Amino acid sequence: MNSLYEAVIGLEVHAQLLTETKIFCGCSTNFGNPPNTNVCLVCLGHPGALPVLNQKVVEFAVKMGLATDCTINRNSIFARKNYFYPDLPKGYQISQFEKPICEFGKLVVVKNDGSMKEIQIKRIHMEEDAGKSIHDQEETTLIDINRCGTPLLEIVSEPDMNSAEEAYLYLSKLRQIITYLGICDGNMEEGSFRCDANVSVRLKGESQLGTKAEIKNMNSFRNVEKAIEFEIKRQIEILEDGGKIIQQTLLWNAEQNIALPMRSKEEAHDYRYFPDPDLMPVEVDEIWKSEIEKKIPELPDTRCKRFIEQFNLPNYDAGILTSSKELADYFEKVTEVTTDYKSASNWIMTEVLKVLSEGKIGISQFIISPVNLGNLIVLINNKTISIKIAKEVFLEMLKSNQEPDTIIKDKNLLQISDTTEIETIIDKVITANPKDVQEFLSGKEKVIGFFVGQVMKESKGKANPQIVNELLKKKLSQQK
Ligand code: ADP
Ligand code: MG
Ligand code: ZN
Repeated sequence: MNSLYEAVIGLEVHAQLLTETKIFCGCSTNFGNPPNTNVCLVCLGHPGALPVLNQKVVEFAVKMGLATDCTINRNSIFARKNYFYPDLPKGYQISQFEKPICEFGKLVVVKNDGSMKEIQIKRIHMEEDAGKSIHDQEETTLIDINRCGTPLLEIVSEPDMNSAEEAYLYLSKLRQIITYLGICDGNMEEGSFRCDANVSVRLKGESQLGTKAEIKNMNSFRNVEKAIEFEIKRQIEILEDGGKIIQQTLLWNAEQNIALPMRSKEEAHDYRYFPDPDLMPVEVDEIWKSEIEKKIPELPDTRCKRFIEQFNLPNYDAGILTSSKELADYFEKVTEVTTDYKSASNWIMTEVLKVLSEGKIGISQFIISPVNLGNLIVLINNKTISIKIAKEVFLEMLKSNQEPDTIIKDKNLLQISDTTEIETIIDKVITANPKDVQEFLSGKEKVIGFFVGQVMKESKGKANPQIVNELLKKKLSQQK
């Protein structure tokens, strides 16, 4: 980036809430039902049909507000945002405008260079989603109203981020918090967690904000990062050429890696917001607020700190293990079986996460139970098996989902700690490699590694490496 300039970024995030029913009617929010089956007079927008607010939506909004240090407004108001859209039968979307439910929040992210950055949250409000227009049919467009009235939280940041990295970290943190709360599944690819990025640039030291462009249609974290980087570069180039930035909405094209302007007709904003006369102001009193607060689980930052203290883990480990609630839960279940916390962490961070990323699955679909993984670590630590054998057992557990004990017995993998048995193998290896014995005797102690390798191979990995080492040194020296 041209170092004369500074980028300014604000994000608007839409999170689909995991309620059973829609925000203003009793229709199911279930995804994937046949088109236009989760509908009723209210969400179809029939005249005179009255909306009734789903209490759960308010509870979820308050949870998110409390988890991000917001002020929870005792009273908030629903407003009509008027616009015509084929998949919005009412001709307006019920949203919040002047008085949202939550305001003035913040969260802190840790950057790759280790520095911290606080990002302010301007507001969080409740609103309904629109339906879906399906354009991929030939010649016609189809409308599916099922999504109409699905509850959303819109989380709007202040323009506090100055790089694609900061935007990425902010978005990740929001997603981490909202999934810990269990109020949204956080799935960007499927569109239940969506982000619009507002980007402007200005000369460093300038106090006024530059003209912004808004980028939509990014369906992964990586695309958000790429789109912001693209837009910063585009705007700087325009300014450098003496041009002016025009305020517009751009759509990210993930195939071509560029952001292209939306048709300008689609972005003439004149929403004519006004309070919805069909809905009462929402009231969240202190009693209700504190009841909701009690239901908030331990949040990622707190849990991360606790992992560092309670399990004596490095920051790095604790950060990864608490990246999702399910992974943190898994780790804690392993620690109920073994107190070797660092090994538990290592196994999860390397072997387990490798399996998850290769299979593109989450920890909830991981076949090995935390109890079995814990027991595997116990078996290593009490020297029943070596680490090498443990990796074999681990692979077998992935296939057969059996207990490690059973696999070790069935496959005869018990570690050999019997010295006579190991001595026999060592003798065999020494006889077979006279040259290397001579090298050892002439002072090249390094060849001991070769011998250890040979003995381990001969024992099919089952010999206790410590005993092998000791006996080998003794036996080799005796060859003189
Ligand atoms: P609008 O009315 O156009 O939606 P808002 O003031 O509601 O604008 O802000 C929407 C989002 O855009 C917020 O996240 C805000 O932080 C961000 N934003 C506002 N102005 C700028 C700017 N000049 N540069 C970058 N982001 C901005
Ligand atoms: Mg906006
Ligand atoms: Zn309905």
